[in-house]
Amino acid sequence: TSTRGRKSPVQRATAGAITITHADRVVYPGESITKGDVAAYYQRVMTSLLPNVVKRPLSVIRCPEGARNTCFFQKHPMGGLHHVGTIELKEEKGSLATYMYAKNASSILELVQFGAMEFHVWSTRIDRLETTDRVVFDLDPSPRVTWERIVAAARLLKVQLDELELTSFVRTSGGKGLHVVLPVNPACSWDLVKDFSHAIATRMATGQPQEFVDTASKTKRAGKIYVDYLRNTRGATSIANYSLRTRKNAPVATPLRWEELSKIEGGDAFTIRSLPRRLSRLRKDPWENIDSVKQTLSAAMKKLEVGA
Ligand code: ATP
Ligand code: MN
Ligand code: MN
Repeated sequence: TSTRGRKSPVQRATAGAITITHADRVVYPGESITKGDVAAYYQRVMTSLLPNVVKRPLSVIRCPEGARNTCFFQKHPMGGLHHVGTIELKEEKGSLATYMYAKNASSILELVQFGAMEFHVWSTRIDRLETTDRVVFDLDPSPRVTWERIVAAARLLKVQLDELELTSFVRTSGGKGLHVVLPVNPACSWDLVKDFSHAIATRMATGQPQEFVDTASKTKRAGKIYVDYLRNTRGATSIANYSLRTRKNAPVATPLRWEELSKIEGGDAFTIRSLPRRLSRLRKDPWENIDSVKQTLSAAMKKLEVGA
């Protein structure tokens, strides 16, 4: 819906807190999706988006000129922000740097006002940066891998995690693949999640070498699914649930119930247009209880080492 030619509803809805300027600027070229539509989308999904974003180091993809034009990945705050939290943290190379985090809806909308379109978070919270509470498996298909194979990969991963008595969750990335995420509670060391996720990726690649690889190498990945476990390092980010992607049709990274996978048509199945309808129909978020799952990796790690 274009907001051109009249006062943007978004502009009025957020007046007092955040004003969205240039709300009628088309930000998805050729798709008549405006900056106002993006702001309205984030307002609509806000209560679903915030639980997995608030108080986590946050990076954004900003596209001041619209998606697919001059977009850039930004980790550090720009001047002029009033509603976005900042935290000084030690980067991997040892130097201190200022990072952003969302405090509330105004944080998200203010970033949208500054051209943010995608929201990416660390797998940890700002009050305990040296531990992590999420393991993220990013299933990356190389070109020509069918969607059915990606779904089968996610299901196989789930079975392996089930066997280790670990509860996992699935989402579309909004791009080509799926992400399988498991909560770790209480949070554990980055070393442990990295070792664990690497061990799982290697087990998949060893078990079905024609299907999976555990290295990013482009030539080894050809025709296969890369089980990307490298999201599980301090400082790495993953797309947040309900974030838009700056790709064709404005797709959304969408948390699913495992049972839904069979009727999903691709990593970009849900979009800025269809996701709000889905949200209206859902009685609860598929990931609603993710933070109440109590599980650790130590027992699973021991089993993997013995079984390897
Ligand atoms: P797809 O399903 O298409 O793979 P995806 O969300 O998994 O979608 P990837 O391209 O596989 O996307 O992952 C890129 C990852 O790297 C994301 O998790 C993102 O948070 C992160 N990222 C993207 N751009 C940058 C950047 N410039 N610097 C650091 N990290 C980035
Ligand atoms: Mn991916
Ligand atoms: Mn990846």
